[in-house]
Amino acid sequence: MRPAILLTPGPTPVPEAVLRAMAEPVLHHRTSEFGALFETLLADLQYAMRTRNRVLLLTSSGTGAMESAVANLLSPGDSAVVHSTGLFGDRFAEIIRSYGLAPAVVAEEWGRAASPEKLRQALKAHRGAKAVFLQHTDTSTGVVNDLKSLAEVVRAESDAVVVVDAVSGLGGEPLETDAWGLDVVLSASQKGLMMAPGLACMAVSQRAWALVEKAALPRYYFDWRAMARSVADKETPFTPAVTLVVGQVEAFKLIRAEGIENVWKRTARLAGYAREKGRGLGLELFPKDPCNILSAFRLPAGLDGKKLIRDILREERISIAGGQGPLSGKIVRVAHMGHIGKPDLDAGFEALSKRLKVG
Ligand SMILES: *Cc1c(COP(=O)(O)O)cnc(C)c1O
Repeated sequence: MRPAILLTPGPTPVPEAVLRAMAEPVLHHRTSEFGALFETLLADLQYAMRTRNRVLLLTSSGTGAMESAVANLLSPGDSAVVHSTGLFGDRFAEIIRSYGLAPAVVAEEWGRAASPEKLRQALKAHRGAKAVFLQHTDTSTGVVNDLKSLAEVVRAESDAVVVVDAVSGLGGEPLETDAWGLDVVLSASQKGLMMAPGLACMAVSQRAWALVEKAALPRYYFDWRAMARSVADKETPFTPAVTLVVGQVEAFKLIRAEGIENVWKRTARLAGYAREKGRGLGLELFPKDPCNILSAFRLPAGLDGKKLIRDILREERISIAGGQGPLSGKIVRVAHMGHIGKPDLDAGFEALSKRLKVG
């Protein structure tokens, strides 16, 4: 069933103007027309990430950017620290293990933000760590991490580069790549950037680039060096998702017209609105350190969260996310990022309200 309203934390709704732009005939990628769009998009991403660092573009979902960070920064035998605050932190650890390395994992209790003090201890115990992997917002638990404080700890305790998964946070939650000293910030199109899935990106500092040049893990399609060489010619090494680039440039026109700081403020106001609605239904917010891009609510004990979501999709054509991993069936996650607006939230909470009363 095709949902009429997407309240999921990715994919999120795509504005009409963006959909229309993507309905135009396909461009060839080795043309000046595409080159101009590509250059515009890289500048737009720098704008949203608040960075002057080199930005690279990938044809993949966000996980591809996560994997590319591991493959381009690390070498066999390297030490790396993952401060996990949920499913996506655990994913970083899995990717690193899949490349034959053994990451040190600081596992935060789900619903709490990463602790700078625990990170400090981990870095003291793993001297020589090459990289620290963090989430901006962990979409599985609805927390936001204090990247500024975490990056300060990394700088004070080590020479490690700071790698941030901002797949869900970018374009919704305040993010200062350069001011906070974040070496690699990666993201994807289908969340706060109001686009269909399929594009990923990363901003890479010069400090991180020194590791990219030396890294010895296998890489081919995701080799950042090849991408950097092509950027000089306003190209990508392989055929890019041209239609998605067209759409993302269109979406950025909307983001720039509003101003990124205003987007952050609007998202924060919507978070407040959603939480008021949740409180009205007697729903408790799950995370102790909640982010602005989505609200994760604990469901009343005994209520079948999976069925609740299935029923709402089937009967109301509204897509709401459930819990992942250990939270499966126990929480609902209502997104309020990107193009999601108040009327969408009203419809979602109305659908929840009807069913919570019956339950
Ligand atoms: C959505 C998401 C990802 C990437 O997921 P894909 O399905 O590969 O796009 C990574 N990290 C976070 C925090 C996310 O929310």
